[in-house]
Amino acid sequence: MNKFGFLLILMVLVSACGTQQSSHSSTDFSDQQSELIFSGNEQTSMRVFKINKPKDSILLRTPSAKVDVQKNKEILNLLIERMKTTMVDSVNMGVGIAAPQVGILKRVIIVQRFDKENLPIEGYINPVIVQYSKKKQTRREGCLSIPGRRDTLSSRAYAILLEYDNLEGTHKTEMVEDFTAIIFQHEIDHLDGILYIDHLQEEMSNSKH
Ligand SMILES: [Zn+2]
Repeated sequence: MNKFGFLLILMVLVSACGTQQSSHSSTDFSDQQSELIFSGNEQTSMRVFKINKPKDSILLRTPSAKVDVQKNKEILNLLIERMKTTMVDSVNMGVGIAAPQVGILKRVIIVQRFDKENLPIEGYINPVIVQYSKKKQTRREGCLSIPGRRDTLSSRAYAILLEYDNLEGTHKTEMVEDFTAIIFQHEIDHLDGILYIDHLQEEMSNSKH
């Protein structure tokens, strides 16, 4: 290999590292992501990625990027509607879903609001938990990406202070409590490649000491 070839490989490596470091800064939807989202309409479910498939598992463990709402309104609207359809279809019947679970590494989640009248299913963009209560709660959790099991966790916060963007591009702050706070914690974990079984493992190893 000549000097130039070596330099080129080095440059590619450096820029690859740079991309990984800034995984939380906002990027546009890639052609592949757009194709997947526009492959159906609002009433079409998307395939749910599962932890027991090696390729799916790698994506589920990858952190998601922030989204610029103003620049991506049309695709975000369709993604949110398709995620809602996927979450409530007859196979899944979930109470929350995160974009990585349908193969899109973007910071978008759907949560059913058990703390609101008529239990609406709502989309949240770039959600961040800025504060956790010291008080914990104990609940059974399951995950659409981890078929065939449910487990009880005791390490989830009872209340959280949440910041997010809505589809109008407005930045909001909200306090959420009780079971709905668990759904937010579970779904936002997905955006960092974290699954509820990781918390379970941590609780079990803590209880051994
Ligand atoms: Zn999940």
